[in-house]
Amino acid sequence: MKYYSTNGKAPLATLQKAVVKGLAEDKGLYMPQSIKPLPQSFFGKIQDLSFQEIAYQVADCFFGEDVEAEALRKIVYDTLSFDVPLVKVTDNIFSLELFHGPTLAFKDVGARFMARLLQWTLSPLSLKGESQVNVLVATSGDTGSAVANGFLGVEGIHVYVLYPKGKVSPIQECQFTTLGQNITAIEVDGVFDDCQALVKSAFMDKELNEHIRLTSANSINVARFLPQSFYYFYAYAQLKKLGLADNVVCCVPSGNFGNICSALFGKRMGLPINRFIAANNENDVFFYYLQTGSYFPKRSVQTIANAMDVGDPSNFARIYDLYGRSYEAICSDISGASYSDEQIAHTMRECLAETGYQLDPHGACGYRALQEGLREGEIGFFLETAHPAKFKQVVDEICGTEIEIPARLQAFMKGEKQSVSMSKNFADFKAYLMSR
Ligand SMILES: *Cc1c(COP(=O)(O)O)cnc(C)c1O
Repeated sequence: MKYYSTNGKAPLATLQKAVVKGLAEDKGLYMPQSIKPLPQSFFGKIQDLSFQEIAYQVADCFFGEDVEAEALRKIVYDTLSFDVPLVKVTDNIFSLELFHGPTLAFKDVGARFMARLLQWTLSPLSLKGESQVNVLVATSGDTGSAVANGFLGVEGIHVYVLYPKGKVSPIQECQFTTLGQNITAIEVDGVFDDCQALVKSAFMDKELNEHIRLTSANSINVARFLPQSFYYFYAYAQLKKLGLADNVVCCVPSGNFGNICSALFGKRMGLPINRFIAANNENDVFFYYLQTGSYFPKRSVQTIANAMDVGDPSNFARIYDLYGRSYEAICSDISGASYSDEQIAHTMRECLAETGYQLDPHGACGYRALQEGLREGEIGFFLETAHPAKFKQVVDEICGTEIEIPARLQAFMKGEKQSVSMSKNFADFKAYLMSR
C-alpha cells in the first residue's frame, strides 16, 4: 500500500516511510491510497468473532500488503491484550469502554500497535547497524502516557514526551514522567499547541534531521490512527449480538480528531454505522465548521476535559480529504456538539444519579450529545475514552464521590518524577536534541 499526502505536494510513501516520517515533506498527513471494503460475509458473522480476530481482518485491509500475515497477526493480538466492552447505560445509549488498557485510555490501542509496527519496520535497519530512532510526541494528557508505556523498554527506540507545564493532571503526569529507561519527559512552558508546534518544527528542520533520526507518534501517524478503527467494528459486533445493530449512531468525544477519523475510515470499509457525532468541549473549531462551512483554528482554552483542548485539530485535514473536500458530504455523515465545563459537570452528576454510571469528563460530552441528538428508533454508543479515575480530583469534586484508583494506576503514582524543563522556543528544543 502506498500513502499520499493530504497536501498533494509530496511523493507517495511506503508504509515504512509513512510510519517513520509521520508527517509528509509538504507538511500534509499521510492517507492510504486505497481503502479496501470488507466483504459482506465478514459483517454477516462479525458477532461470532473475537475482538482480536475482527481487528486482524481490519488490519489486513490496511497493512496486509506490507506485513506478512503471521507478523501482522502477532502485532494485532499483542496490541489487544485487554477487552473493550460495550456497556448499557440507558435503553438506547451504550458506552464503549476504552479504558481497560495499561494507561486506562483509548490511546493505548494505537500506541501499542504503533510501537510494535515501528519495531517491525526497524528490524531490517537495525541489522544494518543504523542508529537509534527517536520518537517525539506532544501530549495534552493521555497521548504521552499511552505512547511512553507502549514503547517502554523497546530496544533501539527513545521516546521524548512533550507536555504543557501545569496543564495535565498529576495522575496523567506521573504516567510518563516516572518511567525512566528509554522515556524522557519534557515539560514545556506553554500550552499543548506549543508542544505540537515544537514537534512539527523538529520534523521540518533539515540540520536536526541529519543529526538524529526522528519519528512521530502523534495521532497523525498512520500506525496510530488506523488501528483505532478496530474497536468500532467490535462495538458493532457487540450491538449485533444484542440484536440492536439496525440503526446505529456513534458519538466520539473529539480533540485532535484522530479517533473519529478512524471511525470514518471504518464506515468507508463498510461498517454499517448510520451517522456520527463529534462531541467537543469549549474548543469548538470543528463544531463551528459544521455550522458555517468555515474552518478557523483558534488558540486552545483549558477545560475539565483537557485531552480535548485542541485549537487546530490536525486530523481535520484527513477528514476533509476523505470526503473529497466537500462540506456537504462531511455534514451528511457527521454532526457536532460543544459543551461548556458547566454542562459537562451537570451531565456527569445527572448520569450518575439517573443511571448509576460514572462518566469521565470526556465521555460526558459523548453521552450528552447522544442524549440530545438521538432520534426515534436509533441506538447510540459513545466512546468512554478514559477511566474516570484518571481525572479523580475533578470527578470527585463534581460528583461528590470518592472513586477508587485502579491498581495499575496506583503503581505509577509511587514513582519519582523525572523531567526536563523547556521553553516554547524551537531554538532551545533544537539545541537540546542536537546535544543528545
Ligand atoms: C486524546 C483523547 C481524546 C481526543 O481524541 P482525538 O483522537 O484527539 O480526537 C478524548 N478523550 C480522551 C480521554 C483522550 O485522551
